[in-house]
Formats: sequence, structure tokens, C-alpha cells
Amino acid sequence: MATPVVGVLALQGAFAKHIETLNSLGVDAPEVRLERELDTVDALVIPGGESTTMSKMLDLNGLRDPLAKRLADGMGVLGTCAGMILLAAEVLDGRPDQKSFNAIDIAVRRNGYGRQIDSFEADLPLEGSDDPFRAVFIRAPKVEKAGPGVDVLAEVADVPVLCRQGSITVASFHPELTADNRIHKGFLATIDV
Ligand code: GLN
Repeated sequence: MATPVVGVLALQGAFAKHIETLNSLGVDAPEVRLERELDTVDALVIPGGESTTMSKMLDLNGLRDPLAKRLADGMGVLGTCAGMILLAAEVLDGRPDQKSFNAIDIAVRRNGYGRQIDSFEADLPLEGSDDPFRAVFIRAPKVEKAGPGVDVLAEVADVPVLCRQGSITVASFHPELTADNRIHKGFLATIDV
């Protein structure tokens, strides 16, 4: 299989570490801010950050429709934290003007883990491995519903935190913040080029 070019949406938020992780896996990971940059990539990472701001900037940069079209065409996308919110079918506690792409059949509650534990870490068992993945959650979205077509790849306290449906993978945590690159590797394995 050819090595895919995996763009990282760089409108706002935690995009730099995703680029480092992808580069460490030998993958070219250009920053994507414009439609012509989106046109050059095989797949995309939508990072964590602030989903309301990113939603606004997608419109300001003219990326909303081109990205919706690539999603409809089956482009592989990894959405982490705010990226998960942007890809969800339903956003609870979102801002009224915030839009999501309805690319994966999940309902997520923004900042759903509440104030007491708005940031925490958890060890996730990963299928096919004896070593857990140390996941960092930062004001994370909480998955409140996952449709029948969604594969739940990891859970914390019975709540899905890593989900996949077709070409879309979403994590409520920040896999780019730890040296462990298995989540990115798993995503790369889903990309057809
Ligand atoms: N709470 C943020 C939001 O609603 C997401 C936090 C994150 O991406 N670390 O967009």
C-alpha cells in the first residue's frame, strides 16, 4: 500500500503534536487551512481545541462544503476531542450556532465529564495488545449514544471513548499528547490510497 498523505486541520487547537506523531510514523502531514490544501491530502486529522471556534473558522475559510464533500466521498478522518464533536451526528450542550458534519452516528455532550474531573487520565485496554493506552482527557466530550453501525473500540466506565464507523475514527481523548502512537497507527491502517 502507498503511504497516504494525512493532512491535519490547522485552523485552531492542538494540531502541531498530531503532525509530529504522523511524521514519526513516516507520514507526510501537511497543515490544512484552505480548500486547495484539502484537495492535496488522502486523509485528515481534526484535532482537539475548541469546537465552537473551529466550526466558525471552517465557515470563514470556506472549508465547510469542501470537507463535507470529502466526508461524503469516504475520506478517512481521525477526529480527537473537539474533532470528535465536529464529526458527530448530534451535539448536546453545543452552542446554537455550532454545526457538526454528521459523519459518525454518535451523540456527544460537550464538556460532558463535568467540572470536577474536567481533565483526567485513564488506561484503555486496546484489542490485540497486553499494554493499555494511557489516554489524556481534557474537557472531553462524553459519548451518550452510539448507533448500531458504530464500532466501540475502547470504553472508560462503560462510556465509549474510541469509536469507528467506516472511514471515520473518533477519540474523546488526546492521543497526540503521549509518545504511544498506536491510535494513529490504527487510523492509518483504515486509509485506502
Ligand atoms: N471542550 C472542547 C470543545 O467543546 C473540546 C476540548 C478539547 O478538544 N480538548 O470543543
